[in-house]
Amino acid sequence: MAKYDYDLFVIGAGSGGVRAARIAAMGGARVMVAEEDRVGGTCVIRGCVPKKFMVYASEFSKHFEIAEGYGWTVGESTFDWPAFIASKDKEIARLSGAYVKNLHNAGAELVHGRARIIDAHTVEVVGVGTHTTDKILIATRGRPWMPKDLPGIEHVLSSNEPFHLPTLPKRIVIAGGGYIAVEFAGIFNGLGVDTTLVHRGPNVLRGFDDDIRAHVTEEMEKRGIKVVLGCQHTAIEKTSTGLMNRLNSGHDLESDVVMFAIGREPYVEGLGLEGAGVALSDTGAVIVDDYSRTNIESIWAVGDVTDRINLTPVAIREGQAFAETEFHNKPTSFDHEMVASAVFSQPPIGSVGLSEADARHKYGKVDIYLARFRAMKTTFVGGDERCLIKLVVDAATDKVVGCHVVGPDSPEIIQMAAIAMKLGVTKAQWDSTCAVHPTLAEELVTIREKHMPLGMSQVA
Ligand SMILES: Cc1cc2nc3c(=O)[nH]c(=O)nc-3n(C[C@H](O)[C@H](O)[C@H](O)COP(=O)(O)OP(=O)(O)OC[C@H]3O[C@@H](n4cnc5c(N)ncnc54)[C@H](O)[C@@H]3O)c2cc1C
Repeated sequence: MAKYDYDLFVIGAGSGGVRAARIAAMGGARVMVAEEDRVGGTCVIRGCVPKKFMVYASEFSKHFEIAEGYGWTVGESTFDWPAFIASKDKEIARLSGAYVKNLHNAGAELVHGRARIIDAHTVEVVGVGTHTTDKILIATRGRPWMPKDLPGIEHVLSSNEPFHLPTLPKRIVIAGGGYIAVEFAGIFNGLGVDTTLVHRGPNVLRGFDDDIRAHVTEEMEKRGIKVVLGCQHTAIEKTSTGLMNRLNSGHDLESDVVMFAIGREPYVEGLGLEGAGVALSDTGAVIVDDYSRTNIESIWAVGDVTDRINLTPVAIREGQAFAETEFHNKPTSFDHEMVASAVFSQPPIGSVGLSEADARHKYGKVDIYLARFRAMKTTFVGGDERCLIKLVVDAATDKVVGCHVVGPDSPEIIQMAAIAMKLGVTKAQWDSTCAVHPTLAEELVTIREKHMPLGMSQVA
């Protein structure tokens, strides 16, 4: 007779939890997964996937504009928000169902309800029952951080709500400078909404390369997004015609919708972690080692709740590594180096490795290769959209340690660059690769001139 009801109890059926549960169950483990909401987690229900559909929907306005320059006659175009939301919801339901099916096919059990850890080997699913388990995996996501004391915060949406707005607003103010705020600004602007991005920092996308940040801001402004930097909300007031955004710059700005995407926090509230003795960081993240194990022998955590790199593929790989280590006798830790990422801004960004500033800090002397050029597709119709590519090379070893691209398809391009960089490609090897023509990506392998910071070229 087994000592516990289950070998593994997973809290959260999202990216990390589902992967871990499936791999463990496929290795013969008795697995239970608890989910308090819809199966699929942030990525499927209110993150990557529905957001990308919104990006696709919003890009059509630009396509229609360009189409005429290529000889097409495009009739009057209109956008039906409720029809789009209904189609999007249908696809999300299909994907969520596929997650349920995959769990089932792997042999894992699923229970709907909110789980709470009672002790190192016991989990309660509120209103359903209590189960004992050999191991517990916490995979409970992050959630939007909202400034609860801000006057009028009750009028503000988080990044969870735009996926279900009953109507498309005419005017939106988005507070935040991270990738979620920037992506939603592009979405609403593309859908014809008068869009203002308000960010308290000196530029958007902190953590990305400074040239990328400046370039994207410029391109967003060219497309009509108003970017207000160095300022933040002091209040939001309801008026007879909308919502008044009071800013600390002294400016007031009226909009129909206000959305805050100013940060996220690990979702650990009410999980019973204090009682179980699970250690948390100052930011509330579950502290784990390289194998995602917490300070408690029988409890692990993966994904956004550990606040390492908060991206879906990372949560999946952490979940996979955990399950391979614990249930397939294959000790595996996920390497968080050289994880590529995309920002689905308009134009989009693909980025892998270090920014110039971080590389200088780490390596001292670095060589920079940078090119700005017009996008071929829009130049044809007299457009002024610019692409940017930037390579950061460690001068001592010639290794490419940073690659940053802004322009059409850059998220697709960066995936391939990440393979080479993960393998430690040098600039000389990179340059030996023949170009694919005519593409944006060819610029990456044809760029030879080192970039001098402004003023340096005269000196050197
Ligand atoms: C707007 C937005 C856009 C994003 N876009 C991208 C993108 O383009 N690319 C990318 O890689 N990442 C993106 N992300 C990040 C990505 O969604 C997350 O990194 C990823 O989903 C984290 O996976 P996870 O396993 O940690 O949590 P999730 O996949 O969110 O799963 C956690 C699950 O746990 C459940 N849960 C929580 N507490 C309990 C409990 N006590 N009991 C039972 N169930 C519980 C939740 O309901 C949820 O289903 C985006 C995020 C947001 C918010």
